[in-house]
This record gives sequence, C-alpha cells and structure tokens, in this order.
Amino acid sequence: MTTPRDLDDTQPVRISDTGTYPAVRTPVIQLDDVTKTYKTGAVEVEALRGVSATIEESEYVAIMGPSGSGKSTLMHILGCLDVPTSGTYRLAGEDVSTMSEYQLAQVRNRRIGFVFQQFNLLPSLNASRNVELPLAYAGVDRAERHERALAALTRVGLADRVRHRPGELSGGQQQRVAVARALVTDPALILADEPTGNLDSVSAEEMLELFAELHRSGRSIVLITHESEVADAAERTIRIRDGNIQDAEPVSAGTAR
Ligand code: ADP
Ligand code: MG
Repeated sequence: MTTPRDLDDTQPVRISDTGTYPAVRTPVIQLDDVTKTYKTGAVEVEALRGVSATIEESEYVAIMGPSGSGKSTLMHILGCLDVPTSGTYRLAGEDVSTMSEYQLAQVRNRRIGFVFQQFNLLPSLNASRNVELPLAYAGVDRAERHERALAALTRVGLADRVRHRPGELSGGQQQRVAVARALVTDPALILADEPTGNLDSVSAEEMLELFAELHRSGRSIVLITHESEVADAAERTIRIRDGNIQDAEPVSAGTAR
C-alpha cells in the first residue's frame, strides 16, 4: 500500500543520488556560524569569524571583499577543499562535516563545478580531453565522455576548438574550456574564484555574459571577487571583511538571514 510516508522524498540527498533532488527545495548552501582559524607556529589567524549565509538553488551570488578578507578561505570551505574550525556547512542539505574523505572527493567531483583564476587546464590535453577529466574520474565511459564534453564545449561557444590545446587558445577561450569542464558533470553548484582576474576586459565581459546565461538556464553560481564591477553581474552580493559578513542584502525574498 502506498502511504504519504512512502512518497516522502524530502530526505537529505545522499551522495550516491547525484542528480536527484528532494521535492522540497533545500538551499544549495547553508553556513551556520562558520569559523576558520589557521595556526602557523605560534601565530593564529582567524580568517573566518562566524559566517552565516544561505544560498538558494538557482541563485547567482557574488561574494565580494578586499584582499585578505577571507574569500579564498570561504571558497575552500564551500568547495569542500577544507573544513571549518567550528560551525556547520550544509551542501544541498547535507552536513559536510559528517562526510568521509572519499565522500568529500565525490562531492567535489560530482556536485561542484570549479572555475579558478588561473584556468587550471592541463596543457598537454586538448580542450575535449580537459573537459572530459571530471567524467573520467567519475568512471563515465569514453563514448559518453566525448559526447558530453562536446555538448559542454558547444554550450560555451567552443564547438570549433575541441582539438585545440590550451596553449593554442586565448585566455578567454581557455577560461571557457574551464567553464565547460565545470558544467560537464551537471553540478548543483558552480563555484568561481576570481574567474575574470586573468582576462582582458572584453574577455571578462564575455565571461560574465556566459555566467549570466548559465544562471538564466537555472544554474546556482557563486562568484568570488574583489571587484565591485564583477560582483554587479550577480543577483545578490554578500560582502565579507575581516572574516565577517557585512550585509547580506535581502534582495530575493526568503534568502536573507
Ligand atoms: P582573500 O582570498 O580574501 O584574499 P584569504 O582567505 O586568502 O583572503 O585569507 C584570509 C586571511 O587568512 C589572511 O589574513 C591570510 O593571510 C590568512 N590565511 C589564508 N590562508 C592561510 C593559510 N593556509 N595559513 C595561514 N594563514 C592563512
Ligand atoms: Mg583570494
């Protein structure tokens, strides 16, 4: 017999259910009083001092702050590359502090698409192979990898550059390959740290247009930047200074706290 309980799919998303989402919308990111203290010898640096924030599915949020304010520290935590000293981080409803190293690696590979300032492409691989990498790690077979890489490269306007190596592409094109690589696993979140930092102004503009387009198609994007002109491209800006959130603007209803 089918009871309402049987139909309840609002349980936290398990790692093995990549691509499956609960019927009730869970914020992509929930940070609750997150701190991060680095200890270097006798010196302690409080890089994050109690950060709380919520980012909903399909939001496009900029995290902006001056150099040394804790942006990269926060990005590492959001990307499951590092863990908080205290506080809670829930990604798609799941407390990451309860995950094993293996589970965290799975989350990084399948649920988050990373875009870095330095592109981080492998110079010896052509664009298609670079984009295929996360799928190769996830054990996707070759034919499907190829097909999905081509689709992702087409999405970023590089269908005619699939066989080019990074050194044969402009900076803007290399960053597009990086975005295709971030998209190819169909992640819950795209996390970009200063993605326009190494681009000329025209390529930077094009990159922001691409993010805007991805957002319109329903992607959740967190863009980290120290430039207000870049942050302006997002729907909402979270400002960070000295490891504290300054003002989380209540732009869209229900997302501020
Ligand atoms: P941002 O990306 O905004 O420039 P960071 O998150 O890189 O800021 O750094 C925040 C603070 O934490 C700075 O004072 C920085 O010196 C310190 N910090 C960052 N990473 C480390 C680390 N691995 N070890 C010690 N201190 C660090
Ligand atoms: Mg930084």
